[in-house]
Amino acid sequence: MEEKQYLMLPGPTPVPPRVLRALAKPMINHRGPEFKTLLSEITAGLKEVFRTENDIIIYPSAGTGGMEAAVANFISPGEKVLVVSIGNFGDRFAEIARRFGARVEKMDFAWGTAADPAALEERLKEDKDKEIKAVFVTHNETSTGVTNDLKALRKAAGEHPALFIVDSVSGLGAMELETDGWNLDVVVAGSQKSFMIPPGLSFIAVSRRAWEAAEKCTNARYYWDIREARKYAEKGQTPYTPALPQLTALAESLRMIKEEGLPRIIARHRRLRDMVRAGVRALGLELLVKDEIASNAVTAVCAPAGIEADAIRRLLRERYGVIVAGGQNKLKNKIFRIGHLGYVCETDILATLAALEMALIGCGFKANLGQGVRAAQEVALAATQ
Ligand SMILES: *Cc1c(COP(=O)(O)O)cnc(C)c1O
Repeated sequence: MEEKQYLMLPGPTPVPPRVLRALAKPMINHRGPEFKTLLSEITAGLKEVFRTENDIIIYPSAGTGGMEAAVANFISPGEKVLVVSIGNFGDRFAEIARRFGARVEKMDFAWGTAADPAALEERLKEDKDKEIKAVFVTHNETSTGVTNDLKALRKAAGEHPALFIVDSVSGLGAMELETDGWNLDVVVAGSQKSFMIPPGLSFIAVSRRAWEAAEKCTNARYYWDIREARKYAEKGQTPYTPALPQLTALAESLRMIKEEGLPRIIARHRRLRDMVRAGVRALGLELLVKDEIASNAVTAVCAPAGIEADAIRRLLRERYGVIVAGGQNKLKNKIFRIGHLGYVCETDILATLAALEMALIGCGFKANLGQGVRAAQEVALAATQ
């Protein structure tokens, strides 16, 4: 039998059949009326997910392209920025800003913990001359499976005039985020996480204040120039040839999101997280992060003493067709990460846990056979009662 795969990654995530069919549609003229209709439908759908009236620009790029656009358009060389980092993706924002010539101050928190809003408040209060032009925050840190309390962090920034720039590539659509309600200036998201479409698109929501910064920004930019994108968006186009299949797919996935409804989608992600956590614990394994900050999108599991995380992953893949992610950077081979965002259901989690039990036994760990699945079933049942 051709190997069946369970893609349990924090991106790319599984693509629903409806969306796969949409990907196969013939190309259209990106300067014609059909495209204008498509773009306006997509933009309206994205605004609902972002919970915003702000403009949303779509780039044909990986999520990191959206992050780069969020630096290139709003931060001028020599300006000071504060990057709050709790892991690999926070570090990436700092590195991008550095390469664009910003004076980067990093506020680091230990990997596996969340950012402390009080520390941010304190730091910004010290900035009497308002030197800091932007604060960069990761909403959901995919490398550790920690979700920052974005609302509290935004509140902590208070009246400080710095732009508040958020990477929610793995957060948006899996957990609560209120672009307008929380007064977020720039929010970056990507296609291959909770949007259930293949990699290749990034989205960036831009507030009025951020547009003002973009006008004044002295960075060189051409492809990423967000002002150009806005000019074209006004006539229902993009400056350069868009990724048409991805956009057709996005229109379909946004319909699915509307049908299920955001509150139910978020509740589903929370339930899947709780199933994974209960299951992993019942198996006798440890989780990297505490319950209070645990992500709806991805769960980091510590490999048991004496067993390499990558050995467990290999067996999961080779014998059972279950694909989970490894640890990044300093967590390499120490953890593995189970993605549970996008087109994922309870049965996928049960299958993953059942396979994990067997893979652990294959690696010589005395897993409590059946206990992981059972604990997850109890969580799922409790949610329907
Ligand atoms: C996936 C992800 C990105 C973008 O990754 P790409 O590989 O560039 O698409 C950025 N930030 C976070 C938090 C992510 O999870």
